[in-house]
Amino acid sequence: MATVTSYGATQEVTGSCHVLEVDGIKVMIDCGMFQGEEEQQNQVPFAFKASEIEYLLVTHAHLDHVGRVPKLVKEGFSGKIYATAATKDLAYIILMDSAKIMNEDFETKYKKAVRKAIEKKLQPPLYGPLDVQTTFNMQWINTDYDEYFDICEGISAVYRNAGHILGSAFIEISYMEDGKSHTIVFSGDIGNNNELVLPNLQKCKKADILYVETTYGDRNHKPLDVTIAEFKEIVIKTLKANGNVLIPSFAVERTQELLCVLRKMYENKELPKCKIFLDSPMATKATDVYCNYSQLLGSDCQKNIKENGNVFNFDALVYTETPEASKAINEIVGGTVIIAGSGMCNGGRITRHFKHRIWNANNAVIFVGYQAVGTLGREIVDGAQWINIYNEDIIVKASIHTINGFSAHADQDAILQWISKIKNLKNVFLIHGEKESQLNFKEVIKKKLNLDAHIVAFKKRIEL
Ligand code: ZN
Repeated sequence: MATVTSYGATQEVTGSCHVLEVDGIKVMIDCGMFQGEEEQQNQVPFAFKASEIEYLLVTHAHLDHVGRVPKLVKEGFSGKIYATAATKDLAYIILMDSAKIMNEDFETKYKKAVRKAIEKKLQPPLYGPLDVQTTFNMQWINTDYDEYFDICEGISAVYRNAGHILGSAFIEISYMEDGKSHTIVFSGDIGNNNELVLPNLQKCKKADILYVETTYGDRNHKPLDVTIAEFKEIVIKTLKANGNVLIPSFAVERTQELLCVLRKMYENKELPKCKIFLDSPMATKATDVYCNYSQLLGSDCQKNIKENGNVFNFDALVYTETPEASKAINEIVGGTVIIAGSGMCNGGRITRHFKHRIWNANNAVIFVGYQAVGTLGREIVDGAQWINIYNEDIIVKASIHTINGFSAHADQDAILQWISKIKNLKNVFLIHGEKESQLNFKEVIKKKLNLDAHIVAFKKRIEL
């Protein structure tokens, strides 16, 4: 009897972790971190023996899909890890950054706790840089798109391009049971059909059982052309008035999309004279990985490579490498676009740029990604008149814009369209979405595709 048990991303959008068990062999699909309000769950020991997991298949490098892998290794996992080469490279950057942030946070909390003599109560960081290094010293097996491979006798798999971030995949796993072959597909996160940087999501042709993400199961995105037009208008208007545009951005995928849009504006001479700063060491590293795997990028990027020999560079773009170069941006009065992390403004260089510019009505802030409750980004999006940065109250006078159409996730229509092409689908399980979104999607999939979908519960073993 084959079963799947989910240890995360059940009625929530983070912590993806699912274990497929076939004849006693345990194959894990993703081991992601819980984020936001669920963060405390990361510290809870796994509800299974890590040493019993023999294989780990990673769909993509986002923290909510790989963030607990070093913890899995620390707790005794010693099996093989499968991922595309691009996923492995991006995961290294993302996990090292995560370890660094957790350790810095711990040090700050520890100093305060010592003064109150409560340091023994502090929870240590989930893992450190050494644990990440140990994870990457393990046996990683490179999986190319569309290449079938055997995991072990009786279980095989193939990775397909999910078009979500570089290297992302949905995974088709086939296994034998009762003399018959069955195919189960794990969607990971599937991409938006926008081809800005990556090719579109591949079709899934065959699956008996599907575990599908439902992040946007209850809504559709604004069309990309409308989104880009909105973005351009704000950038052009602000630069023409000698203002500055501040863009908090996630290092992977969103930053590269923005660079593509800005590059096109520059080439089409739509961009007033300006300097564009990519002021994020992590985004710069991620952009390098995108360049290293340029063969995986979409047709537009391929065209740029042919014509200009590179994907993202153009004359107006400056990568700031050192802290000094970053600080020197403060001296420029106007005419800049500054892309910096963190994406939700709860740290990183963007907070310093806010301190220097958000009080000035000539400037604009453009939010291009989701802002979680409790972050500085969310405060600003929700209309805060004042913000506190480095213990200083600062008035918000810059114009604040939220542009939502850049999502890297498929929306409701795109998920339905993707599922509609799968032949002989018998069972659909909903994961990686808020409960409300899943209830809505369950109704819609019944109405439009006449499929019964099940909402997966935490730790509940499902017999396939
Ligand atoms: Zn993702």
